[in-house]
Order: sequence, then structure tokens, then C-alpha cells
Amino acid sequence: MSEEVLLKVSNLKKNFGAIEALKGVNLEVKKGEVAVILGPSGCGKSTFLRCLNGLEEIADGSIYLEGYGEIGKEIPFEKIRGTVGMVFQSYELFPHLNVINNIMLGPLKAQNRKKEEIEKQADELLNRVGLYNRKFAYPRELSGGQKQRIAIVRALCMNPEIMLFDEVTAALDPEMVREVLVVLLELARNGMTMVIVTHELEFAKHIADKIVFMEDGKILEVSSPKEFFSNPKTERAKSFLASFDLYK
Ligand code: ADP
Ligand code: MG
Repeated sequence: MSEEVLLKVSNLKKNFGAIEALKGVNLEVKKGEVAVILGPSGCGKSTFLRCLNGLEEIADGSIYLEGYGEIGKEIPFEKIRGTVGMVFQSYELFPHLNVINNIMLGPLKAQNRKKEEIEKQADELLNRVGLYNRKFAYPRELSGGQKQRIAIVRALCMNPEIMLFDEVTAALDPEMVREVLVVLLELARNGMTMVIVTHELEFAKHIADKIVFMEDGKILEVSSPKEFFSNPKTERAKSFLASFDLYK
């Protein structure tokens, strides 16, 4: 990880009518850093990632990407996916397109790149996630874990500066969780900057450079994983962690 701050979120606010989903969120993520967001359901994790990816209009504050500028300003919405990649719990692959066409659609439409060059990169990425042999398969022919790995490849093929993952293993059968988490671990090792929302605590402990704990639209604490899991600063984080300890 470098010391250079890549993502700087300042006083980010987002409402849905009367619901204040984000109440002034501040966060910095350095280049190559992996930030894992933990927090109870409804605390604003997904809304936060969606704002970072330009999928939600924000009410106040700013989201700044070093070298690019502010999201929604210097980075227009149609260019965001080429700088900020996002993968969701539901894979959202296009059912009528095969794997390679799912992957190539974004780069072809939004990035004005040559088909041969994109396909070469797609092949390399498919190899990296162990799915080159499914290049011409359709989404319905793939398992959940395979679809999720394709969704990751599709986002990566846009050459983003930073990747956002919102509970990407939450809908998967247990055996498939691992094959997806392995891909994230490999990305982290290769220096990808990432913001990950997950409920896989062991994975979070392992992959995170820092844990960001959210509650009720706010960040309550930012700690190293070691600190967070052994000695959380807030009572709320303690009770959150305790809720995972079914047999204690
Ligand atoms: P999390 O991902 O942490 O479970 P969310 O970001 O999905 O939380 O939701 C934060 C809050 O915003 C919740 O109160 C949720 O009900 C509300 N919310 C999220 N999306 C919408 C929406 N599209 N319309 C209305 N309320 C929403
Ligand atoms: Mg969510």
C-alpha cells in the first residue's frame, strides 16, 4: 500500500425521503489499501458503495478520486465505471449474452477500445479466475460462484482504479463462497484498491488493512483488523461482534 490517498469521501450525506441513510460520512482509502466495511443490516453500507459508484445522487459532501477529480463533477456519471468498478450480491450478468460478450460490452460501449485488445485482456482475466473454459457459456449454464467470478472479471476489464464489493458471497452456497473470496484475496495481493462490504468475519480479518464499522448512517470506528476484532472501541461494535458468536 502506498501513502497516497486515492479515495477521499468528505461529509457524505444521502437521504431517501425522510430516511437519512448517510449522515455525514468521512473516509480515506489509500492506493492499494483494502477497507472492509462491517455493520448491521440497514446501517447504510450498500448506499455508501452505491454513492461511490455514482448510482445514487448525493445530498451533500464530496467523493474525490486522486488523479481524476470529484465523482459527478470532473468524473461524469457515464465515465465512473471505468474508474470505480462495482460487484453486487446479485451478479447482474445479461442473460442473453454469453460470458465473453458480457465482459466486452462495457469496454466496447463506454471506452472506445479495440475488440481484439479487450478480448485479449478478457482471456487473461478469465484465466486468472479459472474460467477461460467457460468463455462462450451463457449465464444460465454457470453456477452462482462462476457467475460471480464473471461479474468480477467484467468489472476488472474496465481497468478501474478501485473496486467495490457489496456482499458478493451472500447469495452463494457455502462451497462457492471460497472460490469467490480467493479471487478477492488475489486481487488484494496484486495491489488492487478495494472497499468490501461482507459478513464473512474471518475473511474480513484476513484481507482488511482497515475495518470501517458503520451504524445508523455513520462511521463509528476505523481500526486495524487486529484492534477491531480483539478490542473494538465502541459498545456497538462489541455487541455487533457478539451477535456472530452463536455458541458462546
Ligand atoms: P445496508 O446495506 O447496510 O443493509 P442500506 O444502505 O441498504 O443498508 O440501507 C440504508 C437505509 O436506507 C435503510 O434504512 C434502508 O431502508 C434505506 N434505503 C436504502 N435504499 C433505499 C431506497 N432505494 N429507497 C428508500 N430507502 C432506502
Ligand atoms: Mg446492503
